[in-house]
Amino acid sequence: MSYASRVICVLFDAANRDVTFSSKTKTSTLKSLRREGIFVYSKTVLPSNSLCARHAAFSGSYPSVSGILSGKPTENIFDVALNYGFPTIVSGGWFGDKPSLNIRGSVSIFNAPKPDTIGRMFLVGERRGEFTSRFVVELACRFMDEKPKFKILFVDFLDSDCVGHYFKESSEEYRLALEYEDRQLRQLMLEVQSRGLSDGTLWIIFTDHSMSNGRHGSVETIDSWILLYGDPLPEHVKGEESIGTILDICPTICNALNIRVPHRCRATSILERMDIIGTPPTTESHSQ
Ligand SMILES: [Zn+2]
Repeated sequence: MSYASRVICVLFDAANRDVTFSSKTKTSTLKSLRREGIFVYSKTVLPSNSLCARHAAFSGSYPSVSGILSGKPTENIFDVALNYGFPTIVSGGWFGDKPSLNIRGSVSIFNAPKPDTIGRMFLVGERRGEFTSRFVVELACRFMDEKPKFKILFVDFLDSDCVGHYFKESSEEYRLALEYEDRQLRQLMLEVQSRGLSDGTLWIIFTDHSMSNGRHGSVETIDSWILLYGDPLPEHVKGEESIGTILDICPTICNALNIRVPHRCRATSILERMDIIGTPPTTESHSQ
C-alpha cells in the first residue's frame, strides 16, 4: 500500500522565490498551497544547465555522478516507474529535444517552443497574456484521459524562465508570467479534481533554479523552493517549513509511491526527514 495514490509534479521554471511569493505578485494558488502544505527552501545544482537540474530532481543525484554531463545519464524516476509498470506522463519541457535525459516508456512528451521563441512572442506583444503553459495543461489533461491510472504526472511550465531571461526578474513581464502559471496550476488542480483524482494525490510543486539578473541564480544560495501539498499529508505538518535540495524530490516521489529509488540516488525523502513515513526501498527486490 503506497502512501499516495499518485504524484503530480509541477515545475515553475526559474521561479525566483522572492518574486514568486512577494505580496505584489498575484500567485494566490501557490500562496494558499504554501499555507496548507510543506514549504522547503532548497538549493539547486549547476544552474547554468537546466537539464542538469531536472535530472537531479528526477534521479536524486548530483550532475558530477549522475552521468548527465557525459551524456549517459543514469536511472531516473521514470525508469524506475517503468520497472513497476506504472504509467507516467510528462507534459511540456525540453525533454523532446534532449533525448539524453532518457525519459522513456509510457511517457508522452510535448515539445514546447524554444525559449527564445517564447520570450520573443512576449516581447513583440504577439501573444501577450497567453503563454505556453496553458497548452501544457491542456495536453496534460488529454494524457490524463488516456492514462487515468497514471502514477506520476510531470508538468513543466517554461514561461517564467523564458520571460525572465528577456526581461529580468524585476520586470512586470516576469511577474505576469508567474501569475499566469499560477492560474494554470489552479486550472490543472480543477481538472484533476473533475476527474476524481484529487484524493490521495501528493502535489510536488517546485522550481529548478532561481532567476537572478536574468540568469539562473547560483548553487551558493538557497534561493529555490519545493512545495508539498495534498491530502496524504497529515494535519500536523501543514504550514511547516524545511530546508533541502532539488535532489530531495526524487526520493520523496519514491517514498510516496513506495517504489525503490534510482541507483545513484543519494538524497533523502522530505517525507522521511519530517517523520511522516519511513525510508523508501532501495533494492530491486521491491520492484515486483
Ligand atoms: Zn533559463
